[in-house]
Amino acid sequence: MPQLAGRVPAERGDGILCSRMAQDLPRVVAAVVAVTLLGCIAACAAPGGARPGVAAPDAARARMVEEQIAGRGITDPAVLQAMRTVPRHEFVPPQSRADAYADWPLPIGHGQTISQPYVVALMTELAAVKPGDRVLEIGTGSGYQAAILSAVGAEVYTVEIVEPLARGAEAVLRRLGYGRVHVRHGDGWRGWPEAAPFNAVVVTAAPPVVPPALVAQLAPGGRLVIPVGEEEQELRVLVRTPSGIETRAGVPVRFVPMVVGPGTGGSVPPGNGRPQEVR
Ligand code: SAH
Repeated sequence: MPQLAGRVPAERGDGILCSRMAQDLPRVVAAVVAVTLLGCIAACAAPGGARPGVAAPDAARARMVEEQIAGRGITDPAVLQAMRTVPRHEFVPPQSRADAYADWPLPIGHGQTISQPYVVALMTELAAVKPGDRVLEIGTGSGYQAAILSAVGAEVYTVEIVEPLARGAEAVLRRLGYGRVHVRHGDGWRGWPEAAPFNAVVVTAAPPVVPPALVAQLAPGGRLVIPVGEEEQELRVLVRTPSGIETRAGVPVRFVPMVVGPGTGGSVPPGNGRPQEVR
């Protein structure tokens, strides 16, 4: 299965806006649809052969924020600041480092990808994280999204099903000094009940349906940002309000599939509950 993650076109000035308000989300509909595969192909086809590293990472990062993030309508100052400060090149494998600030996802091994920078910023803005919030991430991958959540002031709990990715991300996060990020190797379908409730839950792999445990682990006012679906996915924001769970968004996206194994308590429809291979 191709490994996919949300990405949007690279054009500048394409009028894409995003906001945590649901009514603004359709404005990115045409944008947040593209395919990681294209990004991976572009990454692999880019000139340069062996890639020694990214030249002038600070300048590349500033340009990334200006063109890809602020340029597409991300306005939350804390998110913009986090995207300016977290060294994305430290989270990508050496052979992809020259493309660390490019406008597409990159392979991180084990058939997985680090999401496109814009998608990381969008999900962080939709999660509306405040300093001191407890945030659960499902799908640690490289650890980059976790670092961004930490940089906006959250205490982060992140779960990754592929053990070498979990260990690798933990090592990078420790080395870079992100002490308030807790990494667990395990199945994120169940969330992290011992650390709940969470002010926000950010899911970076797409399950066929919303995992009930993740909704149950939301604090009052808490937000769950999650791509849902198989071939066709939409990015939803579920909010725990005093009157119940409100679903506030529905933007088309493509993410890698969430591995759905045993232990889903029958909450996945027949046919979708078969274990998927992690490559
Ligand atoms: N957030 C990551 C990118 C995630 S890619 C980053 O910033 O780099 C999606 C990740 O979800 C992959 O690493 C994949 O192994 C993981 N994943 C898939 N199914 C999962 C599950 N059931 N529980 C936890 N992690 C899962």
